Amino acid sequence: MQIGVTQLQDMFGAIAEAMRREKERLCELDGVIGDADHGIAMEIGFSAAATTVAALDPAASDPTTVFNSAAKSFLSAVGASSGPLYATAFMRAGSSVKGKPILSDDDMVDAFEAMANGIKDRGKADPGDKTMIDAWVPATAAARSARLAGKPLGQCLSAALEAAVEGAEATKDMIAAKGRSSRLGERVIGHMDPGAASAVVLIEAILRTFDA
Ligand code: ADP
Ligand code: MG
Ligand code: MG
Repeated sequence: MQIGVTQLQDMFGAIAEAMRREKERLCELDGVIGDADHGIAMEIGFSAAATTVAALDPAASDPTTVFNSAAKSFLSAVGASSGPLYATAFMRAGSSVKGKPILSDDDMVDAFEAMANGIKDRGKADPGDKTMIDAWVPATAAARSARLAGKPLGQCLSAALEAAVEGAEATKDMIAAKGRSSRLGERVIGHMDPGAASAVVLIEAILRTFDA
């Protein structure tokens, strides 16, 4: 697959639309173990990112510009802790594809992995801490091994989605070690982490954009 600025603009548009649709469910999940704003944060952040990115002239920008613009507008739109996490993710995605006008399947898997690593470096969460990392790490590992097995991007992203869904489901059994829900101890058991749930929404929107 060949992915340029236009396809990435579509991708951010699709993520923003998905977050709008899932806003209430994400706020409800955050209401149980956090402060009930996660759906709002994701909706505001991605709608700002999608708007900024859509205004870029494809003839005068490249994939790195798209990711960097998304990062900046996400960060300034979101006050919640997910703001700097996703802003770092997109900055890292931008750096990973620097200088490339068109992205290949390999480049997209690299960018995807760079996002997960950015979230890890920024938030310092490990798998098992009941955060979005519990969806992102297995998702990017699945995408990477599908790519190493020679699968096209669409199949890499479906593998990623499946792993993210399982990872998000597994957060129900975890006690939180990071973020505001870490203050609640065992009371969070039985409830899915909202950040892991929104990672699933995001990855599904990316899959829908590139599933040829
Ligand atoms: P806030 O908690 O500031 O209101 P959000 O509600 O937008 O922020 O996001 C909460 C989500 O952020 C959590 O469900 C969790 O997945 C994620 N999160 C919080 N802290 C971290 C961290 N240090 N590393 C990774 N993810 C984190
Ligand atoms: Mg919150
Ligand atoms: Mg908050």
